[in-house]
Amino acid sequence: TTIDGPRTGLSNQAAYADLHGFVAGGVSSNMRARGIIEPIVVDSASGCRVRDIEGNELIDVNMGYGPHLFGYADPDVTAQIAAQFGRGHMTGLPHRIDREAAGLVAELVPGVERLRFANSGTEALMSAVRLARAVTGRTLVLTFEGHYHGWSETLLRSRGGDGRRPAPGAAGMIPEAMEHTLQVPWNDAAAVEKVFADHGAELAAVMCEPVLANDGVVVPDAGFLELLRRLTGEHGALLVFDEVITGFRVARGGGQELYGVVPDLTVVSKAMGGGFPVAAFGGSREVMEPLARYEAFHAGVYSGNHAALRAVAATLAKIRAAGALYTELDGIGAHAEARVREAVDGAGRTARIGRVGSMMSVALTDPATGEVDEAGHRLLQTACQRRGVYFHPVPAEPWFLSTAHTRQDIDTVAETISEALAETARG
Ligand code: PMP
Repeated sequence: TTIDGPRTGLSNQAAYADLHGFVAGGVSSNMRARGIIEPIVVDSASGCRVRDIEGNELIDVNMGYGPHLFGYADPDVTAQIAAQFGRGHMTGLPHRIDREAAGLVAELVPGVERLRFANSGTEALMSAVRLARAVTGRTLVLTFEGHYHGWSETLLRSRGGDGRRPAPGAAGMIPEAMEHTLQVPWNDAAAVEKVFADHGAELAAVMCEPVLANDGVVVPDAGFLELLRRLTGEHGALLVFDEVITGFRVARGGGQELYGVVPDLTVVSKAMGGGFPVAAFGGSREVMEPLARYEAFHAGVYSGNHAALRAVAATLAKIRAAGALYTELDGIGAHAEARVREAVDGAGRTARIGRVGSMMSVALTDPATGEVDEAGHRLLQTACQRRGVYFHPVPAEPWFLSTAHTRQDIDTVAETISEALAETARG
């Protein structure tokens, strides 16, 4: 028996099938089950590598959906978290680490002076929307097609961006869940202007990922974030940036620093905690007043527990100390983009590649229509996985590279894609 439990000798496939008897759907997040053809059941992970229960080792470029700027099991961060566990990781009382972690977020993220910690992006976004409603006394929220803001009742939307209410995103949601939500296509300035013309006085918030990362990586058109900033300002609505992915990823201060557009409320999560379940939402001192006065409500027994905040403080201190970190991450991303592009071109295939720094999406496309070739992508994914390279089977899910990915690792990934494309072309 290891700390992971007894070794069963099961294959990935058998262990995953067995899991379904105990964990509904085999996973504790629906997102995790999407597109799986051949499951991986993990034994351990370090650096940019994941090892499964069969003893296979894979180079991972999905990296747990984005939290690991320094790779899995980064010794600097894990040592501090481990030390905190030895000192009591959850008392439900204020702790010195609260000030340290909050201070670092406020120092690094331009739009944050004061904040609250939460346990997940979903919680922080749900709370940010509630706060925006408390601040403005309005209810309507404008969202963008393809932007994922977690799975809470009023934010889990289906696609559909014609300026009206989207449909609720899942079975069991109340039919009225989207009554206070409008949705338009990303980068559609005319559609945004129309929503403001029709509903400007009802809008509590406009919410977006400053770089769309949940539908492939799609950067904002020049002037688009500025338009959102100007219109929200003119109409008394709050601009909310969901920087769950982009925060500390696309630049030290996230998308708002990269594009020079500062929102009223910011939500950060993944790269801040090095893989710990932690998120934060914050803004100016004034915007946070309803929470400072306990008039708006946000809570959580585990919100900002000492271990999670130790992870935040250790990660952000490391980010702050690493002078050329984002140049380094961009270099790894640029190398990956060039090598993958070469592999796709070399195979006579077409692909849509989006990238900002170390965040990159790769989706094979149908050369005739230019549309994403989901089936072709899945064949490629399976062939790569069998050869020891893991990216997500859903092409909309980005690659998240880290300082643990060497040029050589990236070359291996690109060579694997070349071989896999050759194999899948042969059928
Ligand atoms: N917002 C964005 C932009 C995300 O990518 C995600 C998760 N992938 C979430 C919110 C939800 O975060 P969580 O899964 O931690 O609730």
